[in-house]
Amino acid sequence: MALPSQDSSQDARNGASCVSAPQSVCYRFDRLGFDQPERTFRLGIMGGTFDPIHIGHLSCAEQARVAFDLDAVVFMPAGTPVFKLNQQVTDAQARLDMCRLATASNPFFDVSPLEVEREGNTYTVDTLCQLRAYYPPNVELYFITGADAVLSIVKWRESERIADLAHLIAVTRPGAHISDAFKSNMAEMTRFDINYLEVPALSISSSMLRRFVREGNSIRYLVTYNVFDYICRHGLYSQAGGGGE
Ligand code: ATP
Ligand code: MG
Repeated sequence: MALPSQDSSQDARNGASCVSAPQSVCYRFDRLGFDQPERTFRLGIMGGTFDPIHIGHLSCAEQARVAFDLDAVVFMPAGTPVFKLNQQVTDAQARLDMCRLATASNPFFDVSPLEVEREGNTYTVDTLCQLRAYYPPNVELYFITGADAVLSIVKWRESERIADLAHLIAVTRPGAHISDAFKSNMAEMTRFDINYLEVPALSISSSMLRRFVREGNSIRYLVTYNVFDYICRHGLYSQAGGGGE
């Protein structure tokens, strides 16, 4: 697997030019890398709005964990997602709660409140800087995202810095063929270390689930049971315009 260049970007990767380190990242993996400095650890970061978290997100993170030998995957619900400023997003605490419920049974998964607790709009580069400043250099960061989002990532604020801070795992569905031309074009256009991974087709999205609830359709089995129960108990998504488009 190709690694991002180790030269001029070393400062950014070590957190030297970044925001200050947070006191804690998550519950289960706060000590990752600290006790074994001679070993390299791989930390997956699954970013998203998770409104709500569904089995597509969970299976995608699990497939990525196994395929890239990740030591852990941290789900990172966005506080105020910049791509969704014009739409109503469910309260951050509820999205955080649902992520915690959905991931609790997987010992390799955890949830971080970092983005939810940070003020202002959520930018991935700020999160990666905070993670880089927190973890020792023997922890490598792998940002997991849908392949369709890769194109927009290269246009994100300070995308070149993101390339220096983390490897990228671009998840595709079988059949959603990504051409070699696209891959080499991406490799030429950016310094990103992009690793492509096909995961079993799961054509569900949070917006589809919100619509299902609103229309009285069932989302049972499309989210974990505890998340289903949480949504029912709190009456989420049942109002038109509540928590989504
Ligand atoms: P919305 O419909 O509200 O945009 P979403 O289902 O796309 O919700 P997000 O929170 O926007 O979920 O996405 C989080 C991450 O999960 C993104 O990287 C996205 O590409 C990925 N993702 C979303 N749905 C799936 C799925 N069914 N299978 C695999 N990955 C998914
Ligand atoms: Mg989405």
